[in-house]
Amino acid sequence: VTALAIEKIGLLVTCDPAAGGGPLGAVPDATVVVEDGAVVAVGRSPVVADERVDVGGRCVLPGFVDSHTHLVFAGDRADEFAARMAGRPYEAGGIRTTAAATAAASDDELRRLAAARRVEARRGGTTTIEVKSGYGLSAAGEARLLRLAGELTAETTFLGAHVVPESFAGRADDYVELVVSSMLPMCAPLARFVDAFCEEGAFDADQCRAVLSAGTGAGLVPKLHANQLRPGPGVQLAVDLGSASADHCTHLTDADVDALAGSGTVATLLPAADFSTRQPYPPARRLLDAGATVALASNCNPGSSNTTSMAFVIALAVREMAMTVEEAVRAATVGGAAALRRTDIGRIGPGARADLVVLDAPSYTHVAYRPGVPIVAGVLEAGVLRYRDPVLWSSGH
Ligand SMILES: [Zn+2]
Repeated sequence: VTALAIEKIGLLVTCDPAAGGGPLGAVPDATVVVEDGAVVAVGRSPVVADERVDVGGRCVLPGFVDSHTHLVFAGDRADEFAARMAGRPYEAGGIRTTAAATAAASDDELRRLAAARRVEARRGGTTTIEVKSGYGLSAAGEARLLRLAGELTAETTFLGAHVVPESFAGRADDYVELVVSSMLPMCAPLARFVDAFCEEGAFDADQCRAVLSAGTGAGLVPKLHANQLRPGPGVQLAVDLGSASADHCTHLTDADVDALAGSGTVATLLPAADFSTRQPYPPARRLLDAGATVALASNCNPGSSNTTSMAFVIALAVREMAMTVEEAVRAATVGGAAALRRTDIGRIGPGARADLVVLDAPSYTHVAYRPGVPIVAGVLEAGVLRYRDPVLWSSGH
């Protein structure tokens, strides 16, 4: 076995509070030892190793875990964004525009577009990414998107109940029946999670319950888009069904907050969507103070959040949602891992996958303090240096 030492780490964020250094387990002057793609040791003394990477006193974080994206799509909705910024409200129905553009694109075109977005995310420090279907809206269309998503990640989600397609207008129950009886058998082998969009204009609580229950019966883990545009039954439904996460959580009652805090369901907040739809931001402070587990994710999609940048999401969470920098970094790493029911990512410690982000900065605070500029010097995935910024990697600071 070849041992790789990542050394001269000025500040190592382990996300393990037992390591000392506050809620992020931030260890100064550290070395990380990697074998077979996994972390075997974290320490402060010199180590024996076959290969060495000197990061020159920079801060190193666990790779970001982006637990909510819609990465496989064609077309863009820049005109819709511009109109919205000029005053037109956001509606769930815009999803059909992307579904039509995606249906018209070839597999190779979708593969090329999604791979480019995956590279963009990696350059921003994302080492694990969840990808949903939801622009296919037919058994063959959804299965195609899940197959393409599966080429990029193991964290795939069947979202057949994203929006009611035009051909089922006024017949949402019939469409849900199609999702359960025809799409699910084809898609379940290609997915790890099942998801639905619980919202006026999309699906109601009974319809979402039918989809998630059937998905659970087919061996998938439930998730739910809940309480994005107005208060609603989504969060309580997600908790009732033992979902891994309730995503959005923008409009919450006290009962919703209590339900999340008393459950194993992660509140996944997507502030880049609230930014791009000019919605209020989710009540992160109430969730954290109540003891809920919070994740931050990009929700990358062409309609409501066309970004892969977890640094941008962290900056929004700190500036607009009163999360501390430490809370935001945890939510973007271990929080995202919890939303994916993973314990081997989102942290740096023995047994974890060696997914590391080298910042061109002395502290993790710079992720929020230096908004909108490239700050990632390098990214390792499973111990392999997958990205080196051509300028930042060699510049020092
Ligand atoms: Zn979404």
